[in-house]
Amino acid sequence: MVKAGKVVAEIHEKIRAAIKPGVTTLELDKISREVLEKRGAQSNFLGYHGFPATICTSPNNMIVHGIPGEYVLVEGDLISVDCGAIVEGYHGDAAFTVGVGKVTNEVERLIEVTEKSLYAGIDKMIQGNHLHEIGKAVQEVAENAGFSVVREYVGHAIGTNMHEEPQVPNYWPGNPGPKLKVGHVFAIEPMVNQKEPWTKVLSDGWAVVTKDGGLSAHFEHTIAVTENGPEILTTY
Ligand code: MG
Ligand code: MG
Repeated sequence: MVKAGKVVAEIHEKIRAAIKPGVTTLELDKISREVLEKRGAQSNFLGYHGFPATICTSPNNMIVHGIPGEYVLVEGDLISVDCGAIVEGYHGDAAFTVGVGKVTNEVERLIEVTEKSLYAGIDKMIQGNHLHEIGKAVQEVAENAGFSVVREYVGHAIGTNMHEEPQVPNYWPGNPGPKLKVGHVFAIEPMVNQKEPWTKVLSDGWAVVTKDGGLSAHFEHTIAVTENGPEILTTY
């Protein structure tokens, strides 16, 4: 999973460097395909329930699962990019959100708070803690900033499949959940909305957008619970 995580980190780095006004989301998918091929990795997104690309690209009011295509990035957009890789049968999965060119202070704040909420969740990935302390920490950061967390899409355990049980909510679900043990690996992925948390799926059957049209940001890492605390795998 460390190897898969490093491939995902490289995809992130190359896509981040390419994001600017005038670039299409399809061009970002091409970058991901090139890295996967160069590293001898497989895509866990391509073909997943028929998904047609190796990354998800979700601009502005789109929360997750956007299909890359002819959409042209515009100065002031925010764009969420989610991608993954399989190496030797093991999966990595991570996402980031970034502003395109110059963005408003509100866009910048939404991105910063969402990333901060991810790290607040990661900090709870200590053996002996309970799983749902992660979501509680994520939710506190997001809501203290005046934003909301999406309920209908959540994080997940990950290993020889991208999505394994249990799910990892980004909010307190009313009970502490199972105890964390060394060797557990989770993809923690807060989706934070500018206004209300509610979602709807567009007619392509994939893209999830905010019901109220507000903006949304998404950050994700694949993280292992180790004896020395949380270890982020989707990084260099
Ligand atoms: Mg993901
Ligand atoms: Mg995920």
